[in-house]
Amino acid sequence: MSIKDEVAKRKTFAIISHPDAGKTTLTEKLLLYGNLIRTAGTVKGKKSGKFATSDWMEIEKQRGISVTSSVMNFPYKDFQVNILDTPGHEDFSEDTYRTLTAVDSVVMIIDSVKGIEPQTIKLFKVCRMRGIPIFTFINKLDREGREPFELLEEIEEVLEIETYPMNWPVGMGKRFLGIFDRMNQQFIKFNGNEAESHIPYGELENEANQAMTTTSEFEAAKEELALLDEAGNQFSLEAVLNGEQTPVFFGSALAPFGVHDFFDTFIKLAPSPQARRSTEGIVSPDNPDFSGFIFKIQANMNTKHRDRIAFVRVCSGKFERGMSVKLSRTGKVFKLSQSQQIVASTRDTIDEAYAGDIMGIYDPNAYQIGDTLLEGKAAFEFDELPKFPPELFKKVMAKNVMKSKQFKKGIEQLVQEGAIQLFKDKRTESYILGAVGELQYEVFKYRMENEYNVEVMFESIGERIPRWLKAEQVKESLFDDRNLLVRDRNDNYLVLFRNEFALNWFKDNHKDIELIDLFEVNSYG
Ligand code: GDP
Repeated sequence: MSIKDEVAKRKTFAIISHPDAGKTTLTEKLLLYGNLIRTAGTVKGKKSGKFATSDWMEIEKQRGISVTSSVMNFPYKDFQVNILDTPGHEDFSEDTYRTLTAVDSVVMIIDSVKGIEPQTIKLFKVCRMRGIPIFTFINKLDREGREPFELLEEIEEVLEIETYPMNWPVGMGKRFLGIFDRMNQQFIKFNGNEAESHIPYGELENEANQAMTTTSEFEAAKEELALLDEAGNQFSLEAVLNGEQTPVFFGSALAPFGVHDFFDTFIKLAPSPQARRSTEGIVSPDNPDFSGFIFKIQANMNTKHRDRIAFVRVCSGKFERGMSVKLSRTGKVFKLSQSQQIVASTRDTIDEAYAGDIMGIYDPNAYQIGDTLLEGKAAFEFDELPKFPPELFKKVMAKNVMKSKQFKKGIEQLVQEGAIQLFKDKRTESYILGAVGELQYEVFKYRMENEYNVEVMFESIGERIPRWLKAEQVKESLFDDRNLLVRDRNDNYLVLFRNEFALNWFKDNHKDIELIDLFEVNSYG
Protein backbone atom coordinates (compact mmCIF):
# COMPACT_ATOMS: atom_id res chain seq x y z
CA MET A 1 0.00 0.00 0.00
CA SER A 2 1.31 3.46 -0.84
CA ILE A 3 2.14 5.99 1.83
CA LYS A 4 -0.78 8.06 0.63
CA ASP A 5 -3.22 5.18 1.17
CA GLU A 6 -1.77 4.44 4.58
CA VAL A 7 -2.22 8.07 5.61
CA ALA A 8 -5.78 8.20 4.30
CA LYS A 9 -6.67 5.23 6.54
CA ARG A 10 -5.50 6.87 9.71
CA LYS A 11 -7.79 8.60 12.18
CA THR A 12 -5.98 10.02 15.16
CA PHE A 13 -8.10 11.68 17.81
CA ALA A 14 -8.53 12.40 21.49
CA ILE A 15 -11.62 12.27 23.66
CA ILE A 16 -12.03 15.29 25.91
CA SER A 17 -14.46 15.78 28.76
CA HIS A 18 -14.89 16.85 32.32
CA PRO A 19 -14.36 14.01 34.82
CA ASP A 20 -17.38 11.70 35.08
CA ALA A 21 -18.97 12.76 31.80
CA GLY A 22 -18.33 9.24 30.48
CA LYS A 23 -14.99 9.27 28.68
CA THR A 24 -13.87 5.93 30.08
CA THR A 25 -17.20 4.30 29.33
CA LEU A 26 -17.24 5.57 25.76
CA THR A 27 -13.58 4.71 25.13
CA GLU A 28 -14.27 1.22 26.34
CA LYS A 29 -17.09 0.79 23.82
CA LEU A 30 -14.83 1.94 21.00
CA LEU A 31 -12.18 -0.55 22.11
CA LEU A 32 -14.84 -3.25 22.02
CA TYR A 33 -15.79 -2.36 18.46
CA GLY A 34 -12.12 -2.49 17.57
CA ASN A 35 -11.76 -5.89 19.26
CA LEU A 36 -9.04 -4.47 21.47
CA ILE A 37 -10.91 -5.75 24.50
CA ARG A 38 -13.44 -8.55 24.60
CA THR A 39 -16.03 -7.76 27.20
CA ALA A 40 -17.41 -4.51 28.43
CA GLY A 41 -17.23 -4.04 32.15
CA THR A 42 -14.04 -6.00 32.64
CA VAL A 43 -11.97 -2.90 32.32
CA LYS A 44 -14.52 -0.53 33.79
CA GLY A 45 -15.23 0.93 37.12
CA LYS A 46 -12.62 3.08 38.77
CA LYS A 47 -14.96 3.10 41.69
CA SER A 48 -15.05 -0.66 41.97
CA GLY A 49 -11.30 -0.80 42.17
CA LYS A 50 -10.74 -2.15 38.69
CA PHE A 51 -9.14 0.00 36.10
CA ALA A 52 -10.22 0.92 32.65
CA THR A 53 -7.84 0.01 29.87
CA SER A 54 -7.41 3.68 29.16
CA ASP A 55 -6.51 4.38 32.75
CA TRP A 56 -2.91 3.76 31.95
CA MET A 57 -1.71 5.96 34.76
CA GLU A 58 -3.33 3.86 37.45
CA ILE A 59 -2.22 0.63 35.89
CA GLU A 60 1.28 1.90 35.57
CA LYS A 61 1.26 3.09 39.15
CA GLN A 62 0.52 -0.42 40.23
CA ARG A 63 3.41 -1.67 38.18
CA GLY A 64 5.60 1.06 39.54
CA ILE A 65 5.89 3.08 36.38
CA SER A 66 4.08 6.27 35.67
CA VAL A 67 2.91 7.18 32.24
CA THR A 68 0.28 9.87 32.21
CA SER A 69 -1.16 9.26 28.84
CA SER A 70 -1.66 6.37 26.54
CA VAL A 71 -2.35 5.62 22.95
CA MET A 72 -4.88 3.03 21.94
CA ASN A 73 -4.49 1.73 18.45
CA PHE A 74 -6.69 -0.64 16.48
CA PRO A 75 -8.00 -1.32 12.99
CA TYR A 76 -11.68 -0.55 12.48
CA LYS A 77 -13.39 -1.24 9.15
CA ASP A 78 -11.18 0.39 6.53
CA PHE A 79 -9.46 2.58 9.06
CA GLN A 80 -6.54 2.53 11.42
CA VAL A 81 -7.64 4.22 14.64
CA ASN A 82 -5.36 5.98 17.12
CA ILE A 83 -7.04 7.24 20.28
CA LEU A 84 -4.93 9.39 22.55
CA ASP A 85 -5.93 9.54 26.17
CA THR A 86 -6.21 12.95 27.78
CA PRO A 87 -5.74 12.46 31.50
CA GLY A 88 -8.19 14.29 33.71
CA HIS A 89 -8.92 14.29 37.43
CA GLU A 90 -5.76 14.74 39.46
CA ASP A 91 -3.66 13.78 36.42
CA PHE A 92 -4.69 16.90 34.54
CA SER A 93 -1.51 18.63 33.45
CA GLU A 94 0.18 20.42 30.61
CA ASP A 95 0.60 17.03 28.99
CA THR A 96 -3.14 16.80 28.70
CA TYR A 97 -3.07 19.99 26.64
CA ARG A 98 -0.02 18.95 24.64
CA THR A 99 -1.66 15.69 23.64
CA LEU A 100 -4.05 17.82 21.64
CA THR A 101 -1.20 19.04 19.43
CA ALA A 102 -0.77 15.45 18.22
CA VAL A 103 -4.32 14.69 17.11
CA ASP A 104 -6.30 15.48 13.98
CA SER A 105 -9.70 15.70 15.61
CA VAL A 106 -11.39 15.57 18.97
CA VAL A 107 -14.50 14.01 20.45
CA MET A 108 -15.99 16.17 23.18
CA ILE A 109 -18.26 14.40 25.64
CA ILE A 110 -20.86 16.42 27.48
CA ASP A 111 -22.99 15.07 30.30
CA SER A 112 -26.61 15.83 29.36
CA VAL A 113 -27.45 16.41 33.01
CA LYS A 114 -24.61 18.80 33.76
CA GLY A 115 -23.99 20.54 30.46
CA ILE A 116 -20.65 22.20 29.87
CA GLU A 117 -18.20 21.93 32.75
CA PRO A 118 -14.92 23.74 33.48
CA GLN A 119 -12.45 21.14 32.21
CA THR A 120 -14.36 20.85 28.96
CA ILE A 121 -14.02 24.59 28.43
CA LYS A 122 -10.25 24.51 29.02
CA LEU A 123 -9.67 21.63 26.64
CA PHE A 124 -12.03 23.09 24.10
CA LYS A 125 -10.05 26.34 24.10
CA VAL A 126 -6.92 24.44 23.13
CA CYS A 127 -8.75 22.73 20.26
CA ARG A 128 -10.04 26.09 19.20
CA MET A 129 -6.65 27.72 19.12
CA ARG A 130 -5.30 24.82 17.05
CA GLY A 131 -8.29 24.78 14.71
CA ILE A 132 -8.95 21.11 15.51
CA PRO A 133 -12.29 19.71 14.29
CA ILE A 134 -14.55 18.86 17.22
CA PHE A 135 -17.29 16.24 17.31
CA THR A 136 -19.68 16.39 20.25
CA PHE A 137 -21.27 13.43 21.99
CA ILE A 138 -23.99 14.37 24.47
CA ASN A 139 -24.06 11.50 26.90
CA LYS A 140 -26.40 9.93 29.46
CA LEU A 141 -29.65 10.31 27.54
CA ASP A 142 -30.97 7.47 29.70
CA ARG A 143 -31.07 9.95 32.56
CA GLU A 144 -33.22 12.98 33.18
CA GLY A 145 -31.05 15.63 31.62
CA ARG A 146 -31.38 19.11 30.23
CA GLU A 147 -33.47 19.89 27.16
CA PRO A 148 -31.55 19.25 23.92
CA PHE A 149 -32.15 22.79 22.61
CA GLU A 150 -30.86 24.20 25.86
CA LEU A 151 -27.69 22.10 25.60
CA LEU A 152 -27.06 23.18 22.02
CA GLU A 153 -27.59 26.79 22.97
CA GLU A 154 -25.11 26.44 25.80
CA ILE A 155 -22.48 24.96 23.46
CA GLU A 156 -23.01 27.78 20.97
CA GLU A 157 -22.87 30.50 23.60
CA VAL A 158 -20.19 29.29 25.99
CA LEU A 159 -17.89 27.70 23.43
CA GLU A 160 -18.75 29.99 20.55
CA ILE A 161 -19.05 27.27 17.97
CA GLU A 162 -21.92 26.50 15.63
CA THR A 163 -23.71 23.22 16.33
CA TYR A 164 -25.33 20.79 13.95
CA PRO A 165 -27.32 17.99 15.61
CA MET A 166 -26.62 14.83 13.62
CA ASN A 167 -29.42 13.13 15.44
CA TRP A 168 -32.30 14.24 17.62
CA PRO A 169 -33.45 12.55 20.81
CA VAL A 170 -36.99 11.54 21.63
CA GLY A 171 -37.67 11.88 25.34
CA MET A 172 -35.08 11.27 28.01
CA GLY A 173 -34.50 9.32 31.18
CA LYS A 174 -37.26 6.79 31.79
CA ARG A 175 -39.13 8.12 28.79
CA PHE A 176 -36.20 7.94 26.42
CA LEU A 177 -37.40 6.32 23.19
CA GLY A 178 -34.55 6.78 20.75
CA ILE A 179 -33.09 9.20 18.24
CA PHE A 180 -33.83 10.43 14.75
CA ASP A 181 -30.70 9.84 12.70
CA ARG A 182 -30.83 12.82 10.34
CA MET A 183 -27.96 11.76 8.05
CA ASN A 184 -29.25 8.26 7.39
CA GLN A 185 -32.94 9.10 7.57
CA GLN A 186 -33.73 6.44 10.12
CA PHE A 187 -35.02 6.19 13.64
CA ILE A 188 -32.81 4.37 16.12
CA LYS A 189 -34.99 2.85 18.77
CA PHE A 190 -33.85 2.53 22.36
CA ASN A 191 -34.72 -0.93 23.70
CA GLY A 192 -33.35 -0.63 27.20
CA ASN A 193 -30.91 -3.43 27.86
CA GLU A 194 -31.59 -4.98 24.48
CA ALA A 195 -29.71 -3.92 21.36
CA GLU A 196 -31.04 -0.83 19.60
CA SER A 197 -33.10 -1.27 16.41
CA HIS A 198 -32.98 0.79 13.22
CA ILE A 199 -36.24 1.85 11.56
CA PRO A 200 -36.10 3.73 8.23
CA TYR A 201 -38.20 6.94 8.31
CA GLY A 202 -40.53 5.40 5.71
CA GLU A 203 -41.48 2.59 8.08
CA LEU A 204 -42.28 4.72 11.09
CA GLU A 205 -45.91 4.97 10.03
CA ASN A 206 -46.27 1.19 10.19
CA GLU A 207 -48.75 -0.14 12.69
CA ALA A 208 -46.05 -1.93 14.62
CA ASN A 209 -44.54 1.43 15.57
CA GLN A 210 -47.74 3.21 16.47
CA ALA A 211 -47.47 2.69 20.19
CA MET A 212 -44.26 4.72 20.02
CA THR A 213 -45.09 7.29 17.34
CA THR A 214 -48.27 8.38 19.05
CA THR A 215 -46.59 9.27 22.35
CA SER A 216 -46.33 12.91 23.32
CA GLU A 217 -42.52 12.61 23.43
CA PHE A 218 -42.43 11.39 19.85
CA GLU A 219 -44.82 14.09 18.64
CA ALA A 220 -42.81 16.80 20.38
CA ALA A 221 -39.48 15.56 19.02
CA LYS A 222 -40.93 15.34 15.51
CA GLU A 223 -41.94 18.97 15.71
CA GLU A 224 -38.53 19.98 16.97
CA LEU A 225 -36.92 18.04 14.15
CA ALA A 226 -39.08 19.82 11.58
CA LEU A 227 -38.05 23.13 13.12
CA LEU A 228 -34.38 22.15 12.92
CA ASP A 229 -34.69 21.07 9.30
CA GLU A 230 -36.34 24.32 8.41
CA ALA A 231 -34.61 26.94 10.52
CA GLY A 232 -31.56 25.22 11.99
CA ASN A 233 -27.96 25.45 10.86
CA GLN A 234 -26.95 23.76 7.62
CA PHE A 235 -24.46 20.94 7.90
CA SER A 236 -21.12 21.96 6.43
CA LEU A 237 -18.23 19.51 6.35
CA GLU A 238 -15.95 22.38 5.47
CA ALA A 239 -16.99 24.30 8.59
CA VAL A 240 -16.54 21.12 10.65
CA LEU A 241 -13.04 20.57 9.30
CA ASN A 242 -12.18 24.20 10.03
CA GLY A 243 -13.34 23.77 13.61
CA GLU A 244 -16.19 26.24 13.10
CA GLN A 245 -19.08 23.82 13.38
CA THR A 246 -19.44 20.81 15.64
CA PRO A 247 -21.62 17.85 14.67
CA VAL A 248 -23.58 16.86 17.77
CA PHE A 249 -24.61 13.29 18.55
CA PHE A 250 -26.94 12.32 21.39
CA GLY A 251 -26.65 8.92 23.04
CA SER A 252 -25.66 6.88 26.02
CA ALA A 253 -22.18 5.48 26.44
CA LEU A 254 -23.29 3.15 29.18
CA ALA A 255 -26.36 1.56 27.60
CA PRO A 256 -24.70 1.67 25.03
CA PHE A 257 -27.01 3.52 22.74
CA GLY A 258 -26.13 5.46 19.60
CA VAL A 259 -22.43 4.84 20.17
CA HIS A 260 -21.83 2.53 17.23
CA ASP A 261 -23.70 4.80 14.81
CA PHE A 262 -21.85 7.79 16.20
CA PHE A 263 -18.51 6.08 15.70
CA ASP A 264 -19.32 4.98 12.15
CA THR A 265 -20.24 8.51 11.15
CA PHE A 266 -17.39 10.11 13.07
CA ILE A 267 -14.75 7.84 11.56
CA LYS A 268 -15.92 8.73 8.06
CA LEU A 269 -16.09 12.48 8.62
CA ALA A 270 -13.05 12.96 10.83
CA PRO A 271 -10.00 14.15 8.93
CA SER A 272 -6.98 11.98 8.17
CA PRO A 273 -3.57 13.41 9.03
CA GLN A 274 -3.06 16.81 7.49
CA ALA A 275 -0.03 18.73 6.30
CA ARG A 276 1.95 20.47 9.05
CA ARG A 277 3.74 23.77 9.08
CA SER A 278 7.49 23.88 9.46
CA THR A 279 10.38 26.28 9.10
CA GLU A 280 10.67 25.07 5.48
CA GLY A 281 7.01 25.44 4.66
CA ILE A 282 4.21 22.91 4.64
CA VAL A 283 5.15 19.25 5.10
CA SER A 284 2.72 16.87 3.45
CA PRO A 285 1.92 13.59 5.25
CA ASP A 286 2.53 11.80 1.94
CA ASN A 287 6.07 13.10 1.76
CA PRO A 288 8.25 9.96 1.37
CA ASP A 289 10.77 10.99 4.03
CA PHE A 290 9.93 10.27 7.63
CA SER A 291 9.33 13.22 9.92
CA GLY A 292 7.74 13.60 13.32
CA PHE A 293 7.76 15.68 16.47
CA ILE A 294 7.93 14.95 20.17
CA PHE A 295 4.91 16.16 22.10
CA LYS A 296 5.56 14.52 25.42
CA ILE A 297 8.40 13.06 27.41
CA GLN A 298 7.66 10.65 30.17
CA ALA A 299 10.23 10.09 32.85
CA ASN A 300 10.02 6.64 34.27
CA MET A 301 9.18 6.84 37.95
CA ASN A 302 10.37 3.31 38.56
CA THR A 303 13.88 3.67 39.93
CA LYS A 304 14.80 0.29 38.46
CA HIS A 305 14.08 1.59 34.99
CA ARG A 306 15.47 5.05 34.75
CA ASP A 307 14.71 5.37 31.09
CA ARG A 308 12.41 7.93 29.64
CA ILE A 309 10.02 7.59 26.80
CA ALA A 310 9.50 10.29 24.22
CA PHE A 311 6.17 10.27 22.42
CA VAL A 312 6.50 10.98 18.73
CA ARG A 313 3.69 11.93 16.43
CA VAL A 314 4.62 10.81 12.94
CA CYS A 315 3.94 13.59 10.40
CA SER A 316 5.17 12.16 7.10
CA GLY A 317 6.86 9.26 5.37
CA LYS A 318 7.30 5.79 6.71
CA PHE A 319 8.95 4.87 9.96
CA GLU A 320 10.76 1.56 10.00
CA ARG A 321 12.25 -0.06 13.04
CA GLY A 322 15.98 0.37 13.24
CA MET A 323 16.03 3.42 11.01
CA SER A 324 18.26 6.38 11.80
CA VAL A 325 16.73 9.78 12.33
CA LYS A 326 18.20 13.19 12.83
CA LEU A 327 17.27 15.39 15.74
CA SER A 328 16.79 18.67 13.92
CA ARG A 329 17.68 20.92 16.87
CA THR A 330 21.19 19.50 17.28
CA GLY A 331 21.81 17.63 14.02
CA LYS A 332 22.64 14.50 15.99
CA VAL A 333 21.61 11.15 14.48
CA PHE A 334 19.87 8.41 16.49
CA LYS A 335 19.11 4.84 15.56
CA LEU A 336 15.58 3.99 16.61
CA SER A 337 15.75 0.33 17.32
CA GLN A 338 13.56 0.11 20.34
CA SER A 339 10.64 2.10 19.13
CA GLN A 340 7.60 1.14 21.03
CA GLN A 341 4.05 1.70 20.41
CA ILE A 342 2.21 1.99 23.62
CA VAL A 343 -1.10 0.26 23.56
CA ALA A 344 -2.83 0.77 26.86
CA SER A 345 -1.11 -1.42 29.39
CA THR A 346 0.91 -3.55 27.02
CA ARG A 347 3.93 -2.49 25.08
CA ASP A 348 4.24 -3.86 21.61
CA THR A 349 7.22 -3.08 19.53
CA ILE A 350 6.23 -1.60 16.23
CA ASP A 351 7.92 -2.19 12.95
CA GLU A 352 6.45 0.57 10.85
CA ALA A 353 4.41 3.70 11.28
CA TYR A 354 2.90 6.44 9.10
CA ALA A 355 1.62 9.97 9.55
CA GLY A 356 -0.95 10.04 12.32
CA ASP A 357 0.65 7.19 14.26
CA ILE A 358 2.12 7.72 17.69
CA MET A 359 5.15 5.87 18.90
CA GLY A 360 7.10 5.83 22.11
CA ILE A 361 10.86 5.84 21.73
CA TYR A 362 13.54 5.56 24.35
CA ASP A 363 14.98 8.92 25.21
CA PRO A 364 18.71 8.78 25.86
CA ASN A 365 18.31 12.10 27.65
CA ALA A 366 18.65 13.93 24.36
CA TYR A 367 15.15 14.99 23.45
CA GLN A 368 12.99 17.96 24.36
CA ILE A 369 9.31 18.52 24.00
CA GLY A 370 8.67 20.03 20.58
CA ASP A 371 11.74 18.44 18.96
CA THR A 372 11.58 17.47 15.31
CA LEU A 373 12.95 14.12 14.07
CA LEU A 374 13.81 13.71 10.40
CA GLU A 375 14.97 11.12 7.93
CA GLY A 376 17.55 11.85 5.27
CA LYS A 377 18.90 15.19 4.23
CA ALA A 378 15.92 17.33 5.17
CA ALA A 379 16.57 20.10 7.68
CA PHE A 380 13.54 21.77 9.15
CA GLU A 381 11.64 22.07 12.38
CA PHE A 382 7.94 21.82 12.85
CA ASP A 383 6.22 24.86 14.30
CA GLU A 384 6.95 25.32 17.94
CA LEU A 385 4.40 23.79 20.27
CA PRO A 386 2.22 26.39 21.93
CA LYS A 387 2.72 27.29 25.56
CA PHE A 388 -0.21 26.77 27.82
CA PRO A 389 -1.08 29.12 30.64
CA PRO A 390 -0.43 27.54 34.03
CA GLU A 391 -3.10 27.91 36.68
CA LEU A 392 -1.54 26.66 39.89
CA PHE A 393 1.44 28.53 41.31
CA LYS A 394 3.86 27.70 44.11
CA LYS A 395 7.03 29.19 45.44
CA VAL A 396 9.75 26.61 45.49
CA MET A 397 12.97 26.36 47.48
CA ALA A 398 15.54 23.76 48.43
CA LYS A 399 15.16 22.37 51.93
CA ASN A 400 18.88 22.51 52.36
CA VAL A 401 20.41 25.81 51.24
CA MET A 402 23.74 24.09 50.72
CA LYS A 403 22.21 22.34 47.75
CA SER A 404 21.33 25.44 45.80
CA LYS A 405 23.61 24.50 42.93
CA GLN A 406 21.90 21.15 42.27
CA PHE A 407 18.59 22.84 42.94
CA LYS A 408 19.16 25.35 40.15
CA LYS A 409 20.48 22.72 37.78
CA GLY A 410 17.51 20.44 38.44
CA ILE A 411 14.97 23.18 37.97
CA GLU A 412 16.60 24.37 34.79
CA GLN A 413 16.61 20.92 33.26
CA LEU A 414 13.08 20.03 34.26
CA VAL A 415 11.81 23.36 33.02
CA GLN A 416 13.71 22.94 29.78
CA GLU A 417 12.12 19.56 29.36
CA GLY A 418 8.70 21.13 29.71
CA ALA A 419 7.80 19.34 32.94
CA ILE A 420 6.80 22.59 34.62
CA GLN A 421 7.05 26.36 34.04
CA LEU A 422 9.36 28.68 35.92
CA PHE A 423 8.85 32.32 36.90
CA LYS A 424 10.70 34.77 39.07
CA ASP A 425 9.11 37.24 41.41
CA LYS A 426 9.96 40.74 40.20
CA ARG A 427 10.69 42.02 43.70
CA THR A 428 12.18 39.15 45.60
CA GLU A 429 13.65 37.12 42.72
CA SER A 430 12.26 34.00 44.35
CA TYR A 431 11.46 31.00 42.17
CA ILE A 432 7.82 30.45 41.36
CA LEU A 433 6.62 27.37 39.54
CA GLY A 434 3.52 27.31 37.42
CA ALA A 435 1.61 24.21 36.37
CA VAL A 436 -1.68 23.24 34.85
CA GLY A 437 -2.33 20.58 37.48
CA GLU A 438 -1.15 19.28 40.84
CA LEU A 439 0.40 16.18 39.27
CA GLN A 440 3.15 18.29 37.74
CA TYR A 441 4.26 19.35 41.24
CA GLU A 442 4.33 15.77 42.44
CA VAL A 443 6.39 14.67 39.48
CA PHE A 444 8.69 17.68 39.88
CA LYS A 445 9.29 16.99 43.59
CA TYR A 446 9.88 13.31 42.96
CA ARG A 447 12.33 13.93 40.15
CA MET A 448 14.23 16.65 42.02
CA GLU A 449 14.78 14.18 44.85
CA ASN A 450 15.55 11.17 42.72
CA GLU A 451 17.46 12.65 39.84
CA TYR A 452 19.12 15.67 41.43
CA ASN A 453 19.18 14.60 45.05
CA VAL A 454 17.52 17.80 46.28
CA GLU A 455 14.56 17.91 48.60
CA VAL A 456 12.28 20.78 47.76
CA MET A 457 9.65 22.73 49.67
CA PHE A 458 6.64 24.45 48.21
CA GLU A 459 4.74 27.46 49.43
CA SER A 460 1.40 27.66 47.68
CA ILE A 461 0.32 30.82 45.96
CA GLY A 462 -2.83 29.08 44.83
CA GLU A 463 -4.81 29.31 41.64
CA ARG A 464 -4.04 32.38 39.61
CA ILE A 465 -4.98 33.90 36.29
CA PRO A 466 -1.80 34.75 34.38
CA ARG A 467 -1.84 37.63 31.93
CA TRP A 468 1.23 38.71 30.01
CA LEU A 469 2.15 42.37 29.59
CA LYS A 470 3.75 44.23 26.74
CA ALA A 471 7.33 45.13 27.65
CA GLU A 472 6.76 48.87 27.30
CA GLN A 473 3.73 48.74 29.58
CA VAL A 474 5.34 47.06 32.57
CA LYS A 475 4.90 49.34 35.56
CA GLU A 476 5.74 47.86 38.91
CA SER A 477 3.73 50.46 40.80
CA LEU A 478 0.51 49.10 39.32
CA PHE A 479 0.77 45.76 41.02
CA ASP A 480 0.75 45.07 44.71
CA ASP A 481 1.71 41.82 46.39
CA ARG A 482 -1.73 40.46 45.91
CA ASN A 483 -1.49 40.47 42.14
CA LEU A 484 2.08 39.34 41.72
CA LEU A 485 4.25 40.72 38.96
CA VAL A 486 6.60 38.01 37.73
CA ARG A 487 8.99 37.31 34.89
CA ASP A 488 8.98 34.21 32.74
CA ARG A 489 12.00 32.32 31.36
CA ASN A 490 12.14 34.55 28.31
CA ASP A 491 12.09 37.69 30.46
CA ASN A 492 8.56 38.57 29.54
CA TYR A 493 6.52 40.04 32.36
CA LEU A 494 3.19 38.78 33.48
CA VAL A 495 0.78 39.35 36.31
CA LEU A 496 -0.68 36.56 38.38
CA PHE A 497 -4.14 37.85 39.16
CA ARG A 498 -5.72 36.52 42.32
CA ASN A 499 -9.06 35.87 40.72
CA GLU A 500 -11.50 36.90 38.01
CA PHE A 501 -12.65 39.82 40.12
CA ALA A 502 -9.14 41.25 40.49
CA LEU A 503 -8.56 40.80 36.78
CA ASN A 504 -11.75 42.61 35.84
CA TRP A 505 -11.09 45.38 38.32
CA PHE A 506 -7.67 45.91 36.78
CA LYS A 507 -9.09 45.92 33.27
CA ASP A 508 -11.69 48.53 34.23
CA ASN A 509 -9.17 50.78 35.90
CA HIS A 510 -6.31 50.48 33.43
CA LYS A 511 -7.94 50.39 30.07
CA ASP A 512 -4.71 51.48 28.38
CA ILE A 513 -2.79 48.39 29.49
CA GLU A 514 -3.03 45.40 27.25
CA LEU A 515 -3.33 42.06 29.05
CA ILE A 516 -2.42 39.07 26.95
CA ASP A 517 -4.12 35.71 27.42
CA LEU A 518 -1.89 32.87 26.16
CA PHE A 519 -4.90 30.95 24.94
CA GLU A 520 -5.61 33.76 22.56
CA VAL A 521 -2.15 34.56 21.21
CA ASN A 522 -1.27 30.96 20.47
CA SER A 523 -3.85 30.62 17.78
CA TYR A 524 -2.76 28.73 14.74
CA GLY A 525 -2.16 30.69 11.56
P1 GDP B 1 -15.00 9.66 32.98
O1 GDP B 1 -14.56 10.20 34.30
O2 GDP B 1 -15.35 10.74 32.01
O3 GDP B 1 -14.07 8.64 32.39
O4 GDP B 1 -16.42 8.95 33.24
P2 GDP B 1 -16.80 7.41 33.39
O5 GDP B 1 -16.85 6.76 32.05
O6 GDP B 1 -15.97 6.78 34.44
O7 GDP B 1 -18.31 7.57 33.86
C1 GDP B 1 -18.64 8.20 35.08
C2 GDP B 1 -19.91 7.57 35.65
O8 GDP B 1 -21.00 7.83 34.77
C3 GDP B 1 -19.80 6.07 35.78
O9 GDP B 1 -20.46 5.68 36.95
C4 GDP B 1 -20.52 5.56 34.54
O10 GDP B 1 -21.09 4.29 34.73
C5 GDP B 1 -21.59 6.62 34.36
N1 GDP B 1 -22.02 6.74 32.96
C6 GDP B 1 -21.25 6.84 31.86
N2 GDP B 1 -22.02 6.92 30.76
C7 GDP B 1 -23.29 6.86 31.16
C8 GDP B 1 -24.56 6.86 30.50
O11 GDP B 1 -24.67 6.93 29.28
N3 GDP B 1 -25.67 6.79 31.29
C9 GDP B 1 -25.60 6.70 32.64
N4 GDP B 1 -26.72 6.63 33.31
N5 GDP B 1 -24.43 6.68 33.30
C10 GDP B 1 -23.30 6.75 32.58
